[in-house]
Amino acid sequence: MSASILPFDGLPVLEEVRAFLGQRQGLLIDGVWRPEGDGDVIATSDPATGLPLGEVAAGGVAAIEAAVAAANRAFHGPWGRSLGPERARLLTRLARLVEQHAQAFTELEILDNGMPSFIARLTVGNCVEMFDYYAGWALRIEGVTTTPPAHVAAVAEALTYTVREPVGVVGLIVPWNVPLSTLVLKLAPALAAGCTAVVKPAEETPLSALLLGRLITEAGFPAGVVNIVNGAGEVAGAALAAHPKVDKISFTGSTEVGRKIVHAAAGNLKKVSLELGGKSPVVVMPDADLDLAVPGVAMATFFLQGQNCMAGTRIFAHADIHDRLVEGMVAFCRTLTLGHGLDPATLFGPLVSAGHAHRVLGYVERGVRQGATLACGGAALDRPGHFVPPTIFTDVQPDMDIFRDEIFGPVMAIHRLETDDIDAIAHLANDSDYGLSGSVWTRSLSTAHRLVSRIRAGQVSINCHGAIGNNIPFGGFRQSGWGREFGREGLDAYLETKAVTARL
Ligand code: NAD
Repeated sequence: MSASILPFDGLPVLEEVRAFLGQRQGLLIDGVWRPEGDGDVIATSDPATGLPLGEVAAGGVAAIEAAVAAANRAFHGPWGRSLGPERARLLTRLARLVEQHAQAFTELEILDNGMPSFIARLTVGNCVEMFDYYAGWALRIEGVTTTPPAHVAAVAEALTYTVREPVGVVGLIVPWNVPLSTLVLKLAPALAAGCTAVVKPAEETPLSALLLGRLITEAGFPAGVVNIVNGAGEVAGAALAAHPKVDKISFTGSTEVGRKIVHAAAGNLKKVSLELGGKSPVVVMPDADLDLAVPGVAMATFFLQGQNCMAGTRIFAHADIHDRLVEGMVAFCRTLTLGHGLDPATLFGPLVSAGHAHRVLGYVERGVRQGATLACGGAALDRPGHFVPPTIFTDVQPDMDIFRDEIFGPVMAIHRLETDDIDAIAHLANDSDYGLSGSVWTRSLSTAHRLVSRIRAGQVSINCHGAIGNNIPFGGFRQSGWGREFGREGLDAYLETKAVTARL
């Protein structure tokens, strides 16, 4: 594959990516690529330039119907009775194919989403590992043998054991912020468990799932095991969530849409996993190592331009270090090179769309109106693309909108902590509808663990933030979601347990 120049920003991309973008992409249903769907075509564009990238066919209710039927046929065919080693072999083959196409995936993620290349490379690498990791779990899906019930054992010899079986047909609905890895962290355990899937990518970022679909076919997964239908959330997504022949929905996205999924799932009481929003607290104590905390806290907010569910955007800075922390972070933000993600020097990219940038800037206006002080950023950049620079607010009070709502953009809100009392600090940190992530910055082990034990969140880090890994369970307390992804718990989410008692 040779590098070539696309007309987007004068930056080189692979010939493979150029050819992919040059073709109208379709829907993968029952192992066949359908060039047209019954939904409105999706036009996708490069967030760093605003220029069009291409068009993707979209599905509506009819496409979802066909995809769910195909997934049911596949589940009730040989795939549903497949053995773990067979699925492990296919997952390993897929991992190698994704690895071979890693640069193409990296470029597609950058062009579709706007993320800097260092993040795109990281997430594509994680996807390769994720397929390998769950290939390993496919070899180790095991039940237990246990004591038979007394009333059976009293009259005959008996045997009781459990088997783990796939949940069935799963609908995977994903957001735009890290499109490929959010999909793979659902798909890999679903396939390891023996489920079949209908995938609904986000409207803003339809591309990487389609390249993955080609590789799934090339790896040899049977027709109908994975079906991919791009389309509008309120049409294709809603039809999938409500479908009576879907056994489970795994959804990542906003808390608002999460609620709609729960309502839609009530019809057949399908299982639901939800990874929703966050507004994670970051507590910086007076004894924090500021050489660590300045870049660490800044990146807790500004990684991926703040379009990150784990983002630490509610900063509690103790009065003793408040001014030094703020000064340090304002200086650090000046070092974050803004630009196109394809440029290796870029550390900070655009927001995903003009509409999202507008929403984020609306919050900046509200912050100013409600009395917070802008320490840096706050206005869109006068250049093509949807660039909003790192924005830091000080003098933020806990009742302000910028301290309560998930902005999902590069806006940090800092509250000055005037107390050393651990319970009082934890009370402030927990004063949120969300409970996804959080971090504590201190040199004291005792302070760190006392705070961690009081913070109500699915993931809390000490002197780092958002520590995520394929083997580490991830998910939210309260309105940040239901269930866990990654690790063994991520696999369990796609398995049912059957208890068997045999009177011998
Ligand atoms: P969103 O909720 O608007 O959309 C997510 C997906 O749901 C998209 O594919 C969309 O098309 C679909 N959808 C929309 N309406 C639907 C409906 N009525 N029925 C079924 N599907 C529907 O979220 P977004 O704007 O794409 O992503 C940002 C949100 O995702 C943020 O709130 C963020 O916190 C959250 N998120 C959470 C995690 C996590 O792991 N907790 C990870 C990434 C993003």
